[in-house]
Amino acid sequence: MPAEIIDGNKIAEKIKEEVKNKLEELKRKGIQPKLAAVQVGENPASKIYINQQKKSCEEIGILYKLYQMEETSTEKDILSEINKLNNDETITGIILQMPLPPGIDARKIQTAISPEKDVEGIHPINMGKLISATNIIGPCTAMATVEILKSMNINLKGLEVVIIGHSEIVGKPLAMLLLQSIMESPTVTVCHIATKDLSFHTKRADILITAAGKSQAMWLRYKSGKSSSLDLSYLVNGDMIKDGAIVIDIAINRIPELDKDGKPVLDEKGKTKMKTVGDVDFDIAKQKASFITPVPGGVGPVTTAILLRNIVNLTEKGV
Ligand code: NAD
Repeated sequence: MPAEIIDGNKIAEKIKEEVKNKLEELKRKGIQPKLAAVQVGENPASKIYINQQKKSCEEIGILYKLYQMEETSTEKDILSEINKLNNDETITGIILQMPLPPGIDARKIQTAISPEKDVEGIHPINMGKLISATNIIGPCTAMATVEILKSMNINLKGLEVVIIGHSEIVGKPLAMLLLQSIMESPTVTVCHIATKDLSFHTKRADILITAAGKSQAMWLRYKSGKSSSLDLSYLVNGDMIKDGAIVIDIAINRIPELDKDGKPVLDEKGKTKMKTVGDVDFDIAKQKASFITPVPGGVGPVTTAILLRNIVNLTEKGV
């Protein structure tokens, strides 16, 4: 039987409903959360992201203000702006837009954001709280993945969970979140680029979670001339999935459509035709899995909803 498709939009709507109720309560107390976004220099990709963030905040009743800084801003300038926002009592949360101009130490700037205003949950203090299970917020995508699992009402106790990807914002915090219960946690394996036999691990996963972004990385290497061959094959194919597994595909790969010779297809204006896919060969995987997230429409919308929840949780309780 084909897998049930997990509807990320539906899960996101439920979270947003809870956020709305909390916002109503805060409003009755005369409090309205405000998110400050800091962008340094112009970047077309992050412009789209900023517009989406603004829309999501304003739709739900969170104020949003963009602090646009010059491309030529120094580390000192940015730290000074962050410091001002940290001390501004009207600001609930701060989000730093990536990428920063070359030469700016992103970790240094990120860490300068007060943990009480760290809506992305990536400050070392907030990351540390994931280990002791004392966090009220967390990195949005990792939290979104846990929320998707919760929505399925499955008992994770002792299940084999395999995560592909060990980044600081996704794989590592997700592993920590899944291990928070002392007696009821699953067994978590984290794979990454240096994992020797990926399919050995994935084949025994009751829950397979992937966040590698392999095909986009391959495309970018090809486009920049670092690689002369273009291999956009999926990282996870059907043979790598256990029958009946739950598959959560976090990756968002923007890659070109290819013709039968493996060359990028161009549209009528001569531009490369792009598509969005995950790490998993969805059409094949859905024949083996019991549940699967689509890309897009899976983890993405839940991640946005978690950002809104983080803002409200910080307003309500502080870290
Ligand atoms: P990253 O580049 O920081 O980390 C990638 C991870 O994947 C690393 O641990 C790397 O070792 C591993 N990896 C890469 N190629 C691999 C391979 N061939 N085999 C095994 N492991 C491999 O990326 P990130 O920021 O963690 O993001 C990962 C993916 O998740 C990207 O596609 C990104 O777009 C997506 N993402 C989605 C959301 C969302 O809301 N859905 C949010 C954040 C990131």
